[in-house]
Amino acid sequence: MKTFIASLTLLLCSSVAFTQQPAATTRTAIHAGHLLDVKTGKMLDNVYVTIENGKIAKITSSPDQKSHVAFEPSTQVIELPNATLVPGLIDAHTHLTFDPNFGYQELGISVPKEALTGAKNARITLEAGFTTVRNVGARGYTDIALRDAINEGMLPGPRIQASGPALSITGGHCDNNLLPFEYHSTAEGVADGIEHVQQKVLEIIKYGADVIKVCATGGVLSKGDDPRASQYTLEEMKAIVADAHRLGRKVAAHAHGAQGIAWAAEAGVDSIEHGSYIDENAIKIMKEHGTYLVPTQYLGDWMQENAVKIGLPPMYSEKMKTVSTAMRQNVTKAIQGGVKIAFGTDAAVYPHGLNAHEFAVYVKLGMTPLQAIQTATVNAADLLGWSDRIGSLDEGKFADIVAVNGDPTKDVTLLQNPVMVMKGGVVYKQAAH
Ligand SMILES: [Zn+2]
Repeated sequence: MKTFIASLTLLLCSSVAFTQQPAATTRTAIHAGHLLDVKTGKMLDNVYVTIENGKIAKITSSPDQKSHVAFEPSTQVIELPNATLVPGLIDAHTHLTFDPNFGYQELGISVPKEALTGAKNARITLEAGFTTVRNVGARGYTDIALRDAINEGMLPGPRIQASGPALSITGGHCDNNLLPFEYHSTAEGVADGIEHVQQKVLEIIKYGADVIKVCATGGVLSKGDDPRASQYTLEEMKAIVADAHRLGRKVAAHAHGAQGIAWAAEAGVDSIEHGSYIDENAIKIMKEHGTYLVPTQYLGDWMQENAVKIGLPPMYSEKMKTVSTAMRQNVTKAIQGGVKIAFGTDAAVYPHGLNAHEFAVYVKLGMTPLQAIQTATVNAADLLGWSDRIGSLDEGKFADIVAVNGDPTKDVTLLQNPVMVMKGGVVYKQAAH
């Protein structure tokens, strides 16, 4: 019994040490050179942000650089005279529990190992300035466990909306197609036909999903399927969306082929992931339904440089080449055609922490730097249904704040090197001055 009490005490003590929540009375303030209002593009100068209980209590700005706000001595003031503050960034397409392992390498990774991988990548992602992610696909509900562990203060990481396993047809992009028949290997999210997809949506929600991920078409990093081919039917996707929306969950659809994109948008999904072969018709239907596109563009660049080095299996690399080329042209058309864009990377296909490289690609495809920043702030917050708490630096919202040295509306690559990352009023990264 004594040992039990001793270990319990140890457990309690260590959990206090690891808990990074501020005490209720803690007051923090940031004094920064500039703050970007991402909604309007207006830059505020000489800014004081006061933080109470993890939220932004007050923002004051005075163009007179000499004017200083006096705080009570107990207030901790973070001085960032050269920095621009932007809202904590949001990545609407991550797989925190995966690392870049492809093909038969994946089969050697257990579910517990996947959970530990998630803990590692959650910290990396947060320190890269991403204070919120939507995690769309994981095995063994490891993403749900990761979300809960972070929320309980067990380990550092971003706020997470997690999907659990992705719905897939038998043999589809999100099934496991690597092993021959005698292994009877089936991924957790496999369901065919209206009745079964309905049951699967309920099961996934039962085990804690915030959002439903569905693989509407074939994919690139999967064996034996065609990215252009539709996998779920319009009727199946309508059934998935109806159940998810009734239970207050949004739906994200992995879709490359034009028909699958159009059907998913018509069925009412909230976002199309990738969108590689999007055409005029699909653009029109997405605009009519207000469907977001999550373009995941940087992965094409990274793969072009690294596919050989990492030994991407030929069954994937051929598809990657074809899809990436088509994707650039078609996604550019979608952006120029006025489809709503939310920032998403598919980090895990390349190493976590490089998420912010996505911004520069959006600018290359025709966005202004401000528009690119909006995809990862106001737009992504809207897609997640969290506009009331994240996505802009406003009084009453979470103190999720990233600081970069310089003006990111002139150079979006500055977002690749945040000098400070704060989530819920707690500093997780601060570069030495
Ligand atoms: Zn993905």
